[in-house]
Amino acid sequence: MKSYNDPEKDAIGVCVRCGKAIGSDEAVTIGGKLYCKECAGKIGGQKRLYRLRKDRILGGVCSGLAEYIGIDPTIVRVLWVIISFVYGFGILIYIVLALIVPKEPLINRYI
Ligand SMILES: [Zn+2]
Repeated sequence: MKSYNDPEKDAIGVCVRCGKAIGSDEAVTIGGKLYCKECAGKIGGQKRLYRLRKDRILGGVCSGLAEYIGIDPTIVRVLWVIISFVYGFGILIYIVLALIVPKEPLINRYI
């Protein structure tokens, strides 16, 4: 175990949200800014589009979109299926998104 008797000593920066000194093992960078784990868990990934590792049926694209927009993943899936049937390109878009949208980084999950 690492000693935290002198947290300033090992700190690599200061959390831009709460001002706490952050050691290298608890630093999280979001959008180029440094956060502690606690703050990163509160704000982490809110404005980033990711394919989620939880709630996924295929590639996690629909649930990722749902979390990004802030609606129920089921609604996104239903809409996606309807668009796929009506316009025929929904499946193609899904495949493209599954390829270009990054998987949710594990570092942003502290639940
Ligand atoms: Zn913080």
